[in-house]
Amino acid sequence: MTYQHIRLPVAGEKITVRDNRLQVPDRPIVGYVEGDGIGPDITRACLGVWNAAVARAYGGRRAIQWCEVYLGEKAAGLYGTPFPEEALRAFADLVVSIKGPLTTPVGGGMRSINVALRQALDLYACVRPVRHFPGVPSPLRHPEKVDVVIFRENTEDVYAGIEFPAGSAEAERLERFLREELGAKVPPGSALGLKPISEFGSKRLIRKAIRYALEAGRKSVTLVHKGNIMKYTEGAFRHWGYELARDEFSGQTLTEEELHAAYGGRPPEGKIVIKDRIADIMFQQMLLRPAEFDVIATPNLNGDYLSDAVAAEVGGVGIAPGGNIGDFIAVFEATHGSAPKYAGKDVANPGSLLFSGAMLLDYLGWKEAAQLIADAYGRVVASKTVTYDFARQMEGAREVRTSEFAAALVKAMD
Ligand code: NAD
Repeated sequence: MTYQHIRLPVAGEKITVRDNRLQVPDRPIVGYVEGDGIGPDITRACLGVWNAAVARAYGGRRAIQWCEVYLGEKAAGLYGTPFPEEALRAFADLVVSIKGPLTTPVGGGMRSINVALRQALDLYACVRPVRHFPGVPSPLRHPEKVDVVIFRENTEDVYAGIEFPAGSAEAERLERFLREELGAKVPPGSALGLKPISEFGSKRLIRKAIRYALEAGRKSVTLVHKGNIMKYTEGAFRHWGYELARDEFSGQTLTEEELHAAYGGRPPEGKIVIKDRIADIMFQQMLLRPAEFDVIATPNLNGDYLSDAVAAEVGGVGIAPGGNIGDFIAVFEATHGSAPKYAGKDVANPGSLLFSGAMLLDYLGWKEAAQLIADAYGRVVASKTVTYDFARQMEGAREVRTSEFAAALVKAMD
């Protein structure tokens, strides 16, 4: 594969897929995008921490060979477009990558590079683990009870939504079609929107969530939907979820009813509970009874709201990591934006990108390195050494720069 601006490190080998599994060499080439705004600051800091964790975990036997891929403003300077085709080719070719935040140009241009990327590579699961680290400022009294992994569908629902503006010829035609052909009435002059939710799209997302729950030894998968109101889209998501669990994971799953009827509410070893909650009550319960939830699978829009709301329970944008994952190709990412106000000032919190990198290491099967990062982070934050955003919410904190925070993490690994 030839590239115009991307240079593959000569010392590395590509990650491949064989027999439905990732084959990860000891010196894998992994793609990274610096990102815009604070992106270069946090990426620089994180690369140092990830490399140190891998070096310490495997005594030099393993090392990531990082390959820079260009998106956003840096790509616009090189290619004349913020979304060059060769970046997409590289993500597919390298299989596993990570990216910093990207600025969405205001007023014209594409809606969002992030959304376009997920769609172009069919990265159908947006995975967001949310857990608390002692010392991280939180609005909850018991944030330690939050430990969930949200699987949000990434290609359908409002991401594949079709809209027509109020009063447009298209909206009027559609309104007439609905009335005359389908006997469905909408208020005249309405704006109209459609959201598709398919069996295929729902099942592959829920399958990934159930497989993850089984592999990670989790206790339950909760399907979050608004099926009481939208019975044939959101309600179908719920129905397909239970159907999939029954058809493909019958020996390993049980429903909440079965749990209570046959097991007195105590799940048997090795089985996970499949349950569902209506989206509005889910927001309440994640605040009031977070310990009842574990893995969560949900359509796009519910997942959009829920991921940010739950992340806020444990510290918000400075800490919540994420990954967009297809059948094999994965692009991990900082979940916050490019915070242009702090660009180049070396003050931003690298936590979100840092833990996205820990997810990446987990995805490679390098769990020891991922664990080193989590342990070091716990120690450094517990010592109240934090960036400005946490410092202003903590008493007695020592406020440090992004690069100093990264250096403290590396030191804490020794
Ligand atoms: P933002 O996430 O950049 O900022 C929201 C608030 O959080 C700001 O106060 C910011 O200073 C703060 N913040 C964000 N990240 C931080 C960090 N790591 N450390 C400390 N403070 C941090 O959201 P925004 O201001 O709405 O958007 C700015 C740009 O980012 C826009 O162009 C937007 O489209 C883009 N964006 C990109 C992504 C992405 O790439 N995934 C996500 C959201 C927004």
